[in-house]
Amino acid sequence: VWDAIWLDLNAVTLEAGAAELGWIGDAALGVAGGKLAWIGPRQQLPGPPASLAREVHSAGGRLATPGLIDCHTHVVFGGNRALDFALRAQGVGYQQIAAAGGGIRSTVKQTRELSEDGLVAAALPRVQALLKDGVTTLEIKSGYGLDVETELRLLRAARRIGQLLPVDVVPTLLAAHALPPEFASDRAGYIDLLTRELIPEAAKQQLAVAVDVFCERIAFTRAECARVLEAARAAGLAVKVHADQLSDMGAAQLAAEFGALSADHLEYTSPAGVAALARAGTVAVLLPGAYLMTGETRPPPVAALREAGVPMAVATDCNPGTSPCTSLTLASTLSRALFVLTADEALAAVTRNAARALGLAGSRGTLQVDQQADFCFWDLQHPREFSYWLGGNACWASVHRGRRRSYEPTRH
Ligand SMILES: [Zn+2]
Repeated sequence: VWDAIWLDLNAVTLEAGAAELGWIGDAALGVAGGKLAWIGPRQQLPGPPASLAREVHSAGGRLATPGLIDCHTHVVFGGNRALDFALRAQGVGYQQIAAAGGGIRSTVKQTRELSEDGLVAAALPRVQALLKDGVTTLEIKSGYGLDVETELRLLRAARRIGQLLPVDVVPTLLAAHALPPEFASDRAGYIDLLTRELIPEAAKQQLAVAVDVFCERIAFTRAECARVLEAARAAGLAVKVHADQLSDMGAAQLAAEFGALSADHLEYTSPAGVAALARAGTVAVLLPGAYLMTGETRPPPVAALREAGVPMAVATDCNPGTSPCTSLTLASTLSRALFVLTADEALAAVTRNAARALGLAGSRGTLQVDQQADFCFWDLQHPREFSYWLGGNACWASVHRGRRRSYEPTRH
């Protein structure tokens, strides 16, 4: 006997290779032990619903998709950068904003001032917004602490969020995000701190499953990033790369060399970079929120990625400086408007391919038997409508590990 059965729904399974996203009209979903126990056309159910499950629910004819997966966020931070955004609109340059106390250093300062409780409290409303919009698995990066103590505190705050709210949190260490002021004249010293102390400690305490680096002229060189990624590999952690966002750093190739789960941004990635990602099986994570908010005009090479067969994911990149975005469905729509993904690609980008970008393809991102029972019901008629609405929230209900969610913290 299953725990629950859901009826009166049309499902898209997102199974790889399935036509029309694996559309099943008048479908039924069976859930047992937090996993999907059955999915198919209702008339093929092996018996009357009430005999198959303890609870029988109706989805009222709505569209069901896999639970959404936000595979790139920096959602835990102190303060915000609304003043920077206003100043940029007045034509004040990045350097001047930084000199006036804005920029990433202001976020680092405000983040260091917060306790673990303070960080959790600051992030909770943002995470709740993501959840109400359908997110059931959420990647959270550190990267605004830039010292051992605060980076580990950020990762502990990320873990707490996953304990307080019905969402799976995937924590990533991004200490190679910016050079902290204390190391302004000792770049090698900061890399040493990461490779010798912080990465081994985060791995030992099981606070991160991956290490990310920001490979860019305003952040870290390829050689510096390679040292960090080697340390990650030695510690048994997966790797990811913020790659070629502002210039072609050859960072996609770096990601491929290290067998990265994902290379993210990619606006300036060259054809050689695309080919390297294809060979390595690395997922291209596209971040239209940052593209929009920074006024970037060069989109990532979507046609080349598609042609090469590189799986494309889309994420919010929720962060205070360049993408204060708390809706993954909005990011999905933006990926169509700004990067010309197809409707099918934009839905796969926040489900199946986002799972792969987190190394979770075996358990999430599709509606298949034995996958974790994470799914959403939408007030939508057709899957192409999913990435059509610009804002708003069409998510009627969502189920995480087999349980219908409410979004208030369970305990503190
Ligand atoms: Zn990012």
